[in-house]
Amino acid sequence: MKALALVPGTTDVSLRNYSEPRIEKPTQVKMKVLEVGVCGTDREEVKGGRATAPPESEHLVIGHEMLGVVTEKGSEVSTVKVGDFGVFSVRRGCGKCVACENNRSDMCYTAEYTERGIKGAIRRKSTAVHTQHRRPHRADVSGGEGHR
Ligand SMILES: [Zn+2]
Ligand SMILES: [Zn+2]
Repeated sequence: MKALALVPGTTDVSLRNYSEPRIEKPTQVKMKVLEVGVCGTDREEVKGGRATAPPESEHLVIGHEMLGVVTEKGSEVSTVKVGDFGVFSVRRGCGKCVACENNRSDMCYTAEYTERGIKGAIRRKSTAVHTQHRRPHRADVSGGEGHR
């Protein structure tokens, strides 16, 4: 599949090929991205500003504001079903601070987080989503090549 990716710190933006994400854990769902928004952060990134690629990659796939539909689900997923729509939180927290323990990773206190499409985590046209500790219809991306 194709995704728009950039080399952080540069204006090098290109359409790149990526492998299809797979469900790797029984608590994950796979979603097809239907819509992706573009905001000021994306504009800042493509001008060479705020962005960090995942450690194993030179590129960061952009598009952190999105809507998707569940296409597959893991055997332990009970709060989401195939056909449900979902949006993704941008920030994937540390998982150990008070905010993260209370499902508020956007308020992560430790700064040991990644942000899909912004800081150290990539996003694709189709992606695997982790549903554990998440409210229905709002989940964090996990699994798949290059995800954090
Ligand atoms: Zn944004
Ligand atoms: Zn945290």
